[in-house]
Amino acid sequence: MHEKFVSVRNKLIVLGLAALLAMTAELKAESCVMIADADGIPTPTLYYDDRLFTLEPAFEDYQFMLADACDAWGLDLNAGCDIFPMMGAIDWNAVATICDGNKVIVYDRRLSQNVGYDGALAVIAHELGHHLCKHLGIKPANYTESHKRELEADRFAGATMRRIGFTKETALSYLHLLAELPSESHPSRAERRAALLAGWNDPQTGLACINE
Ligand SMILES: [Zn+2]
Repeated sequence: MHEKFVSVRNKLIVLGLAALLAMTAELKAESCVMIADADGIPTPTLYYDDRLFTLEPAFEDYQFMLADACDAWGLDLNAGCDIFPMMGAIDWNAVATICDGNKVIVYDRRLSQNVGYDGALAVIAHELGHHLCKHLGIKPANYTESHKRELEADRFAGATMRRIGFTKETALSYLHLLAELPSESHPSRAERRAALLAGWNDPQTGLACINE
């Protein structure tokens, strides 16, 4: 019995590593795979910034934040918001990803020290935007496409905050964490500020990404 268990566990570890190596070979910035933990239990693991992070289901407060963001658009688990909120210590950041076929939002709880709890909702809304705008699964062709996706997620976050009833200032509460200058993946802080404000000012446009 025990031996069988160990053999199953080893098989899972090998499968997990093989999947991970395959993904690494594709040079995806972020990938999520199931890897057996020390007890042999398959555990969602995020390959992020060249490191592996074990993920856990989010505590209730973040589950509620995601539910509030979905609710603002009339979406729920059965309609568009079939997304699992998870947590992991991913460098004070948040990521939208697909784990073993499941839509996931990973949030580093420590980020709330910098953005506050209302700001955390804006961050989660940004990641939700990536899922709803169907940005996942296909790598952006170039930096223009990557920037466009980030701005769509920011616009969605601004719109969501407005629909929930948050102030403009709260909708902008993660802005100070963003790099001032553009990178290959992300636009400049000024561009992202404009997108957040555009969403807040005209929340109808929050999901314009779907029709594009
Ligand atoms: Zn993003």
